[in-house]
Amino acid sequence: MTELLLLANIDEPGLATREVYERRGGYQSLRKALQMPREAVLQEISDSGLRGRGGAGFRMGQKAGFLPKGDMPKYLTCNADESEPGTFKDRELMQKTPHMLLEGIVIACYGANIREAFIYIRGEYQLQGDIVAAAIGEAYEAGYLGEDILGSGHDLKLVLHRGAGAYICGEETALLDSLEGKRGNPRLKPPFPAIQGLYQGPTLINNVETLSTVPTIIALGGKRYAEIGTETSTGTKLVSVSGDVQRPGNYEVELGTASREIIYGMAGGPQPGREVKLWFPGGSSSPVLTGSDLDIAYDFDTLAKAGTMLGSGAIIVVDDSHSVLEVMRKVAKFYAHESCGKCVPCREGTNWTVKMIERIESGEATPMDLDIIASVQTQIIGNCLCVLGDAMAMPIGSMVEKFRPELEAEVEAARERAAGGALDEAIPIGVTDPVL
Ligand code: SF4
Repeated sequence: MTELLLLANIDEPGLATREVYERRGGYQSLRKALQMPREAVLQEISDSGLRGRGGAGFRMGQKAGFLPKGDMPKYLTCNADESEPGTFKDRELMQKTPHMLLEGIVIACYGANIREAFIYIRGEYQLQGDIVAAAIGEAYEAGYLGEDILGSGHDLKLVLHRGAGAYICGEETALLDSLEGKRGNPRLKPPFPAIQGLYQGPTLINNVETLSTVPTIIALGGKRYAEIGTETSTGTKLVSVSGDVQRPGNYEVELGTASREIIYGMAGGPQPGREVKLWFPGGSSSPVLTGSDLDIAYDFDTLAKAGTMLGSGAIIVVDDSHSVLEVMRKVAKFYAHESCGKCVPCREGTNWTVKMIERIESGEATPMDLDIIASVQTQIIGNCLCVLGDAMAMPIGSMVEKFRPELEAEVEAARERAAGGALDEAIPIGVTDPVL
């Protein structure tokens, strides 16, 4: 049974208010951190082994360590632009326990000597944005934000910024451009944001769940936190489970838990009589696994060894009532729509993939077209400016590879349907009605 760290009190009425959050021990970690030297705070985060919960899985302590030392304008940006299909865990954290996020931000900023921070929240999260804004107001009133926080001498200004509904702004450098008031286009890396980020200054970028975990790390101690989970995937993780399961929702699991336990034990599995055909372990951009892979441990490294990724921690389950081609079309269309168009492999590759899938559905394709789809995906992967191109190519490529016989059958069935339709059109209406 997982020890709940993030969701322990999540359904307590009023937890979004400072009063209830404090009653539940909130802001004690901040008080503790402010008594420690800044380096010791960062050391606790490093000792915890906490890996970023937004998608890349980079260690937070290491990321913070890349920031230049010394007294210069540095920034922290909280990525709350949760847009990966299937992912809705940050939404719950911000809606129900926003002060946990604020506490994590203030601790991280104290540790890294940052005096200006931003929360970039997805535009569609109107309600959550209002709740976070109210929490920021309360935190200023209580002296957790602003000048000389709790008499520590540390100042922090925190600004909430609402996005305008573009998936690409969840990419860290596009997010920075958007925050600066420009069109949200990804930047070339290097330089990485830790060296040259917001307003050209060193910038620490972390996701909502990552920062919300920081108060727990300070409370437990980094080494104790690292004992939870596996050696290289420490702690607990929020997993958003959706699709064909009986109990969709957010679940907190110890990293290393068997995926079957999450999909069947927690989320109830597909409806009776149905089976898991495929599942995305880390949002729609992760290569798919099949119903034979359910016993795999849910952690960063085991999933990477299996050729996929933990990503944002969103499991999307597809049962055997759906066709793989239908799933491929939905995934490809989403990424084609969200491509910013800056680089050719992504801009052209995503749109061509949609066209090829529609060609199969219209009955004009042959099985060779599946080879072309697979080849387009390999030409996209690793050749784009940011990860969006790969985000489509990896799952599409994996579905072509793992479900080739089913897709070939779809090609043939569509060809037969098209041929039948052509025949129907040739029959004069009223002479022989094939429906009757
Ligand atoms: Fe834009 Fe796609 Fe290139 Fe990313 S990969 S920069 S989204 S065109």
